[in-house]
Amino acid sequence: MRIDKASVKRKAQELGARFVGIASVDRWKGAPETVRPESVVPGAKTVIVIGVPIPRGMVETIPGHLWAREHGHLMGTKVDEIATELALWIEEQGFKASPIGGLSIPKDTFKTFSEALGGTPYPVYEFYKAGGVALNRAGYLAGIGTIGKSGNLVVENFGPNVILGGVVTTLEIEPDPMLEYEICDDCNKCVEACPAGAISKEGKPGNPVFDPIKCWLTNAVEGRTLKTAMDRGDKNVADFLQKTVFMLTEATPATCVCGAGCLVSCPLDKRAKKLK
Ligand code: SF4
Ligand code: SF4
Repeated sequence: MRIDKASVKRKAQELGARFVGIASVDRWKGAPETVRPESVVPGAKTVIVIGVPIPRGMVETIPGHLWAREHGHLMGTKVDEIATELALWIEEQGFKASPIGGLSIPKDTFKTFSEALGGTPYPVYEFYKAGGVALNRAGYLAGIGTIGKSGNLVVENFGPNVILGGVVTTLEIEPDPMLEYEICDDCNKCVEACPAGAISKEGKPGNPVFDPIKCWLTNAVEGRTLKTAMDRGDKNVADFLQKTVFMLTEATPATCVCGAGCLVSCPLDKRAKKLK
């Protein structure tokens, strides 16, 4: 069977992807080695990015425990299955492929968190110190959307409310064109609604200024618990949490945890007004 762009996209759509974009690895030129696709699959030629909209009804459960717990399980599982099946199918055609989980972020981020949280080494980080692809950036490089002021990938008609997954492969596929305009209109609604002050007004569409530590420590259930333990000087609890929480809460659609400002408030999701 001939494997090309059309057959890869068709397969991804059959598996449930609503958005599929293709980026060649040379689009990561200049990126640090540890966040390049080749850090996942040596000799990689292509990154396939898939996207599934988060149902609007689910987005509007923000903020709350339901959102905090369920969207990760449900939406993460959905894109992970699509990415894993797609990777297996590409391997059946004779090329190496690795799925990238919908809730993954480059593992270097663990180091940033560890340092910001007082330098306690995060033991598992040692096993993860290289490798990863940031899916929001990959979505931009694959032509699915652009980077909004909040740091999330924003997509026409759905704004930031699309969960992403990916496949890194040695298969060479003609890349899709990247968008040549900004989808984010710089309305600042995400800046104003962010309860952590994590999104800076100084950022720009395509070039956000975002503080993941402020976001995570203020709003993730685990982050808040960790901060309380640290403020109380409870080193045992803080150490325990720091060792475990990174495995549980790597990231949401792109960078954000509570979604109060950066997801539900963004007017680019046209479904908010369109759906009954
Ligand atoms: S998840 Fe919440 S705290 Fe984090 S950037 Fe988005 S709105 Fe702000
Ligand atoms: S809320 Fe406004 S500024 Fe923020 S990402 Fe959406 S469109 Fe851009």
